[in-house]
Amino acid sequence: MTRLRKQEFLERLKMSIPSLGERSLGEATEQELYYGIAQIVNEEIKQDWQQTEASYAKKKPKQVYYLSMEFLIGRMLEANLLNCGLLEVTKEALEEMDHCLDQILVIENDAALGNGGLGRLAACFLDSLASLGYAGHGLGIRYCYGLFKQRVIQGHQVELPDDWLSMPYAWEVQKPEEQVLVRFGGEVSMHARTDGSLEIELRNTEDVLAVPYDVPIVGYENNVVNSLRLWSAESAGGEEECSRTFYRDLENEQSIKQISGYLYPDDSEEEGKQLRLKQQYFLVSASVQEIIRTFRRLHQKPLSKMPEKVAIQINDTHPTLTIPELMRILMDEEGYGWEEAWSVTTKLVAYTNHTTLAEALETWPVALVKKLLPRIYQIIHEVNERFCQWLWFNHPSKRDQIPQMAVIADGQVHMARLAIVGSLSVNGVARIHTDILKKEEMNDFYRLFPERFNNKTNGITHRRWLLQINPALASLISDVIGAAWVKRPSQLISLLRYSKDQPFLEEVSSVKQANKQKLANDVYNQTGVMIDSQSIFDVQIKRLHEYKRQLLNIFHVMHLFNELKDNPRLELTPRTFLFAAKAAPSYYIAKEIIHLINKVASVVNHDPDTKEKLKVVFLENYNISLAEKLIPAADISEQISTASKEASGTGNMKMMMNGAITLGTLDGANIEILDLVGHANMFTFGLTSEEVLDYYRNGGYSAKDLYQTDDRLRRILDQLNDGVFGLERLSFKDLYYQVLYQNDPYFVLKDFDAYIETHELIEQRYKDKWNWLTMSVNNTAYSGRFSSDRTIKEYAAEIWGIKPL
Ligand SMILES: *Cc1c(COP(=O)(O)O)cnc(C)c1O
Repeated sequence: MTRLRKQEFLERLKMSIPSLGERSLGEATEQELYYGIAQIVNEEIKQDWQQTEASYAKKKPKQVYYLSMEFLIGRMLEANLLNCGLLEVTKEALEEMDHCLDQILVIENDAALGNGGLGRLAACFLDSLASLGYAGHGLGIRYCYGLFKQRVIQGHQVELPDDWLSMPYAWEVQKPEEQVLVRFGGEVSMHARTDGSLEIELRNTEDVLAVPYDVPIVGYENNVVNSLRLWSAESAGGEEECSRTFYRDLENEQSIKQISGYLYPDDSEEEGKQLRLKQQYFLVSASVQEIIRTFRRLHQKPLSKMPEKVAIQINDTHPTLTIPELMRILMDEEGYGWEEAWSVTTKLVAYTNHTTLAEALETWPVALVKKLLPRIYQIIHEVNERFCQWLWFNHPSKRDQIPQMAVIADGQVHMARLAIVGSLSVNGVARIHTDILKKEEMNDFYRLFPERFNNKTNGITHRRWLLQINPALASLISDVIGAAWVKRPSQLISLLRYSKDQPFLEEVSSVKQANKQKLANDVYNQTGVMIDSQSIFDVQIKRLHEYKRQLLNIFHVMHLFNELKDNPRLELTPRTFLFAAKAAPSYYIAKEIIHLINKVASVVNHDPDTKEKLKVVFLENYNISLAEKLIPAADISEQISTASKEASGTGNMKMMMNGAITLGTLDGANIEILDLVGHANMFTFGLTSEEVLDYYRNGGYSAKDLYQTDDRLRRILDQLNDGVFGLERLSFKDLYYQVLYQNDPYFVLKDFDAYIETHELIEQRYKDKWNWLTMSVNNTAYSGRFSSDRTIKEYAAEIWGIKPL
């Protein structure tokens, strides 16, 4: 990539804004500047993109395809500038014209093609694949509407459509010549050929065009540009036919475009809708066709050799139909027999599990799969028959387990079972999560295929989540340990040597303070709430879900409020509790929790006895861009899920990397954070996963008993029932009943006491400023392990068998 100088950059910018006319660059609008800069970046990327593709064609490395229904990308301009080394010159050039880059970056709509952690993981993985120089690409759907926009109106969540393509998306390139057909419905017909083999044909299908849009994924200062290919659904019908049945086709057109119409807004919850299954097959079929076509173009080899040159990772079970789709093409279109097709398929596909929550495990009604995908259904049926027979004859001891292991059972296709049976690898996303999969949820399969199960603890790209969003901290780090950590994040460990260095800590402190002040200004501008940048910033930002226990957090706030009301002179270090969270639109209890947080905020922030010491802010529309503002300003990272429920978490890693101290349960990757930083640098509390699982199995927990015995809890729950703080109009009876009469399924009451105590400890520890700063630096130092570079290297070596080019 060429290094541009400022003057050159300004000239290029001028050329890139044809609408400028007679105006000078200084008079350009922010929108014009945004598209102008994006064009320069695209020009810089273009050559590297072509060269990367050419070198893959020449050197023919094994390629990995990451199939995911979600890619939570966020904005790209700053990341692209950073990765192709143009960030500094852009800032300088803009400064010269009295523009500030921040105001231009916000022109870009967040690409919110994902719900939360799972989709963000996919985006971080693409960044690491390119930055490490692997031939690895993403395949996803170009939803017209991403995750809904959240507004909070009178304390309630309101969802608005995310019309992110209303402005042209600067980073996509349409490739109409590479479109493929995806076929739905129809009937399967079989004829014997003269040689006795079976010819299988699908007739009367509804055909949909999958049109690819490629987004460049720019590696960090290494001239590698990989692709994220997003498929868009378009009508396949010829024009003449269209006009004959105009209205019918108009309707049809609607339903076809719907396939890539919008992202389903459910996180850790399955929505068994037909359109969702259509989306999944649309992604899978288009992608598999593309993968095979590329293999053919690059290698003069039969498809049976694909496993030498291709690996396919499926992000959760959503793209599991990859398995029967590969079988279909190999058998029906390429003439392979079952055995050989199966042998190829099961060497190609690897499956990542993201959850043990029962409500998130995907199943599809047999009738629906049969109707929508008749040939795919036949293949799944055959997979199931062969698997069950194999169990029956080869593992007689497992005969009793067949009903709970069968791919098709109780009139449902069980996607996780299909994914395990048909893949070479099954991985969990943190050590404890993989252990629970092996010991509990998937124990039957683990005992059958122990060699398939493995762990790949999640990670985040430190380039975006530290270098980009916290440049002041990043440059402080480079000042003391040098800049090598940017390419090798494990070297952040060298910071340990400075974690008691007072001048360094002083600077770390000023950076955090400045980040907090900046956030405070943003919060004021957005909400009108004034928060004190000297207070402790206690941050819980993630999807709203009962298992993540935002309810426990707000109970703590209510408890502090009650204490202050009883004793307004109580000594308390001022705290600011920051929340951001979207609830799935159909998740009533989650929406009630959002409502409660907002109502508590409105009381606490205005009561003269509390408003100086407590502030509660719920920031609306949690997305990547909001995360990027909040994370550098966090003092405390709330990671308080019910133990055993959070598979990994990645928000915990982002905050740790930026020097926040984790307040967490022994769940997900929190445990691995604790392994590294130790109890001296982290606050843990609450039930362990063993204890939680034991209560689920054997009972022995009574929420009502706790209500009876703990005055603080009874007061809080009564406040929910009678109206928050005695205000009738603020009653939350459904939450009250959920906790008391459903016996508190997420152990909010059970962990309450330990949580309160730990907060009291934190307050004490915060008073020792130097020690707090030491903890903060230690956290950053150990966070290198959670770079997704480490995760991707593990996938590459242990699952995919690929090496960097
Ligand atoms: C990182 C991230 C998540 C995942 O957060 P968790 O705390 O791990 O659940 C979700 N949404 C956004 C926007 C993120 O950046």
